Amino acid sequence: MVHIRLEKLEEFAKKNNIPIMQKDGIEFLTNYIKENNIKNILEIGTAIGYSSIKMALVSDDIKVTTIERDVDRYDLALKNINDFNLSDRINVILDDALNVNLDSEYDLIFIDAAKSQYIKFFDKFDKNLKKGGVIVSDNLSFHGLVEDETKTNNRNTRQLVRKIKKYIEFLKSNPNYDTTMYNLGDGVSISIKK
Ligand code: SAH
Ligand code: MG
Repeated sequence: MVHIRLEKLEEFAKKNNIPIMQKDGIEFLTNYIKENNIKNILEIGTAIGYSSIKMALVSDDIKVTTIERDVDRYDLALKNINDFNLSDRINVILDDALNVNLDSEYDLIFIDAAKSQYIKFFDKFDKNLKKGGVIVSDNLSFHGLVEDETKTNNRNTRQLVRKIKKYIEFLKSNPNYDTTMYNLGDGVSISIKK
């Protein structure tokens, strides 16, 4: 049952051009959560709730707080999360993440929102990450454009690609984190807080 409902979400996202995590990327993330006994998760970028549902389904004692600024997607996420009976374990906040102030500490923060703002998200929520905790970032390959910028002539896209490159440099040179890049999904990184 759960399986069929997840497939429905994947189909819906595809049809409506909603950039949910790719299959191998979400598989990697949920395995990481399982293997590292992650319990408290903060997600930036809910969309329709797909990745937060996948993460919450790893184990009954996982709690997810997730932030979405688009009201239509927020509404869909609430509905989907309710369909999976996960409303008591997934808390969706409707706001721009850069306006949200949280006091809790998390084991894992998943950054999957506006690519141009990744450094800002990282700096803002660093204080909410436990020592030894991890920041996971998605779309660092950006359809392969980060490896080969010449694949696009679109100015805005190029600008975005440059921002992603800057973020990767920022991660690699951050003395407080150990970052590993994974060439799966649309490019995923794991940054462990020292
Ligand atoms: N994590 C989801 C996909 C997220 S897509 C999944 O894999 O299922 C990225 C989402 O981030 C979009 O819905 C977009 O509206 C939202 N977003 C972008 N910038 C944001 C911001 N500054 N604050 C909150 N949400 C943001
Ligand atoms: Mg993504």
